[in-house]
Amino acid sequence: MPTTGTPTNWAGNITFTAARLHRPDSLGALRAAVAGAERVRALGSGHSFNRIADAPGADLVSVAGLPPVVEIDTSAGVALVSAGLRYAAVAEHLDRAGFALPNLASLPHISIAGACATGTHGSGDRNGGLATAVSALRLVGPDGAVAELSRAADPESFPGAVVGLGALGVVTSVALDLVPAFDVAQYVYEGLGLDRLAEDFDAVFGAGHSVSVFTDWASGEGSIWLKLRLERDPDAYLGGGLDTDAEFAVKAPEPVWLGARRAAGPRHPVPGMPAEYCTEQGGLPGPWHERLPHFRPDFTPSSGEELQSEFFVPRAAAPRALAELRSLAGRIAPVLQISEIRTIAADDLWLSPSHGRDSAAFHFTWVKDTEAVLPVVAAVEERLAPLGARPHWGKVFTTPLEQAAALYPRIDDFRRLVAERDPGGKFRNPYLAALVARTE
Ligand SMILES: Cc1cc2nc3c(=O)[nH]c(=O)nc-3n(C[C@H](O)[C@H](O)[C@H](O)COP(=O)(O)OP(=O)(O)OC[C@H]3O[C@@H](n4cnc5c(N)ncnc54)[C@H](O)[C@@H]3O)c2cc1C
Repeated sequence: MPTTGTPTNWAGNITFTAARLHRPDSLGALRAAVAGAERVRALGSGHSFNRIADAPGADLVSVAGLPPVVEIDTSAGVALVSAGLRYAAVAEHLDRAGFALPNLASLPHISIAGACATGTHGSGDRNGGLATAVSALRLVGPDGAVAELSRAADPESFPGAVVGLGALGVVTSVALDLVPAFDVAQYVYEGLGLDRLAEDFDAVFGAGHSVSVFTDWASGEGSIWLKLRLERDPDAYLGGGLDTDAEFAVKAPEPVWLGARRAAGPRHPVPGMPAEYCTEQGGLPGPWHERLPHFRPDFTPSSGEELQSEFFVPRAAAPRALAELRSLAGRIAPVLQISEIRTIAADDLWLSPSHGRDSAAFHFTWVKDTEAVLPVVAAVEERLAPLGARPHWGKVFTTPLEQAAALYPRIDDFRRLVAERDPGGKFRNPYLAALVARTE
């Protein structure tokens, strides 16, 4: 592979085995690269931890070199954006125009196309994954032709195309539904007992626009990262009413909440790591895009010295999942940097890990030691399998892909859609072949 691109993923645990990496700077060049390839995979910002994006012996194509477009239709509340842009780059434009995305992931450095293709999500009882904001997408198909799919014009197939795992073509732009710009105040509470979390799961996760609980499992405690949504007009919160949403029960400045104490200073999710990498805490209001991610766009959150896994269970099963994982703490802790628990609203996207069910997601930032981590991942999967746990498509898991596919009620529709749009399997790699195997 030429050295013009990334030979490894962000974490460095995957060395891509593609023969060539294309980084076209025009739509025409992209179309020619796709049409001329025997097999090709789209590569986003390379933040996935497994071989989902790889193209063994074949072609990889990045859309990061296409002209960067952010066109905001202010009357419709929709932005047309180049798919290779990173969320951080788009967010500032939206904010300046008075708009926001409803939610963001923990990291603003990931590409929009790659994030949406894998069902990437943030947290929030009423926030769907990032792909739920996509109302249309433009993609280059196997013959190099450009197609457009939209929620309005293609209601049958569109929900199958958005979390598409790169199987339907190379996405060049997406239309994103916007909301009015808002501010966020972020607070960290420490010392939440995990027993208390199991009892008061709804109170914790219902307390703000986006809530995360970080834990190491072994201590029996966690910390709450609470992100409260504020009206942009400062008068609305400086007067004392901190959270504009009537359903949010908590008054954030409480020094002690559910037995947890407000942190005395800024924190990093991984104890001991520098808090300067993280977005502003302590309740200082700021724009949505500077608070919803945990990490700041101008810092690399870590050197990539980590692996990640994540499993989504139906929200109602969260207390059981907590109990199962606590009983595995002795195995998890030695290879864990930190775990994060989040909630995601149900959606209708066929391969979204939150498809058809409000979900609780259990995330693990592991040490970067694949050999030591994999058996523990398998043990976690064994405990969570009876709860119907779906693995994050872009992270480390050992569940066979066919088994993971069976957890999605619309998987056969997805297989039909892939067969229809890519009959020759041009966008297929071993990961995808295992997932769509039954149509072949
Ligand atoms: C530090 C870190 C923090 C993370 N935080 C979160 C988080 O908060 N929440 C969460 O859910 N996940 C998180 N992730 C996982 C990450 O969001 C996903 O792995 C996501 O897919 C990464 O996007 P990417 O652009 O790097 O995609 P890549 O890893 O490059 O590719 C992933 C998939 O997207 C497809 N793809 C990429 N571009 C295109 C395109 N233009 N057209 C069609 N298909 C395309 C690829 O073919 C591949 O199948 C995190 C990862 C890291 C490293």
